[in-house]
Amino acid sequence: MLTADVVVIGGGSTGTSVAFQLARRGAGRVVLVERGAIGSGPTSKSMGIIRLHYSYEPLIRLALRSLELFSHFEDLSGGTADFTRAGFLLAASSAQMPSLLDNVALQQRLGVRTSVLTPAQLKDLDPRLEVSDLGGAAYEPESGFADGYATASSFASAARRMGAKILEQTTVERIVVEGGHVQAVVTSGDTISTPRTLVAAGPWPPSVLEPLGIRVPIESSREQVVQFAPPPEFGRLEVVIEDLAQGFFARPEAGGTVLSGVLEEGAEEIVQPDGFNQGVDFDYVERVGRMWAHRYPSAADAQVRGGYASLYDVTPDWQPALGPVDGIEGLVIAAGFSGHGFKLSPALGEVLTAILLGERPAVDISMFALSRFATGALIHGRHAQGILG
Ligand SMILES: Cc1cc2nc3c(=O)[nH]c(=O)nc-3n(C[C@H](O)[C@H](O)[C@H](O)COP(=O)(O)OP(=O)(O)OC[C@H]3O[C@@H](n4cnc5c(N)ncnc54)[C@H](O)[C@@H]3O)c2cc1C
Repeated sequence: MLTADVVVIGGGSTGTSVAFQLARRGAGRVVLVERGAIGSGPTSKSMGIIRLHYSYEPLIRLALRSLELFSHFEDLSGGTADFTRAGFLLAASSAQMPSLLDNVALQQRLGVRTSVLTPAQLKDLDPRLEVSDLGGAAYEPESGFADGYATASSFASAARRMGAKILEQTTVERIVVEGGHVQAVVTSGDTISTPRTLVAAGPWPPSVLEPLGIRVPIESSREQVVQFAPPPEFGRLEVVIEDLAQGFFARPEAGGTVLSGVLEEGAEEIVQPDGFNQGVDFDYVERVGRMWAHRYPSAADAQVRGGYASLYDVTPDWQPALGPVDGIEGLVIAAGFSGHGFKLSPALGEVLTAILLGERPAVDISMFALSRFATGALIHGRHAQGILG
């Protein structure tokens, strides 16, 4: 039997970030258990968009701290997150502008560099944009995107160098709880004796928590991404754009191509996390293509290069379950990120490490407690799309 001070379940961007911070803090014997390879889950399929626009202070603080950590990722981890500071635009119709303005005001109070652009200013920023149906946009010049797999593998490598044990191809089968305390984690290999465990298992926490009588309302939603190449005369897409008016997003990708998808929650398709169609549907490609062509008419003749589908771990209010699980000492959850957890993962490494070590975290995440789903204290952001928080 192995013995650990903390076991982290899941080797995506969340679990690896926490394992890294625990190892960095010298938190004793840290073991990360991943049933596949590090970063092989939804993390590796992430669009990796890093923006600071949220409706709630804790999310803005987490995103802001994460941006700082992404900006110094090489110094922090000795690896790369492939962070590109492309800038971020959140474009909105006139009817959507009041929510956008409220969020921008809150962000500015918290020290975020963001401003509101009129349609004319948007045209100055990128003359190729169609702005006739827009009331304006929020613009964050310091935001951008990074790579999910690079981030998770860099965190895992750094954690290992600092003494953490990383077990790949090893599945956690159950968590042993006695007298209301975590005692051990039983895996497909060894049993690991431990007083504390973090469940950072993306869409899969129900399989380890429900046998303990804990209800975890996380569902797997199939989400598609399309890659296409704008015509050469268009040039490159420089900025990340989330287009509330149409409900779609696009970001630059290598080789002058673009990754794009829809923002609407209505597009969700609940599936089994271990058996779903990982391809992209042709109807979806056409739909995204129409929205792209509307926003960038001079790139209407873009060529489709491919696409894929992965999973969002969706909760009823599209916000994660974070922090200690009531009634079981030593059990902490970080899952249900509902399609927007990558950007939060560096800061959550620090915050969840503090919680696992019994310290007060730098950001108060108590509003994200798992218990809110039972009490009905759901979180509602200012925008219609919950993914925007
Ligand atoms: C298509 C797509 C686009 C996205 N775009 C963005 C974006 O632009 N910006 C953003 O911030 N977020 C985005 N996200 C969301 C973001 O990628 C995720 O929230 C984040 O990467 C989740 O990381 P995680 O570590 O929590 O979970 P995961 O990546 O799901 O990792 C969980 C890991 O746990 C492992 N595991 C599960 N069960 C067990 C078990 N019993 N034993 C051992 N291991 C287990 C799995 O194998 C998996 O590797 C996107 C997601 C998708 C799918």
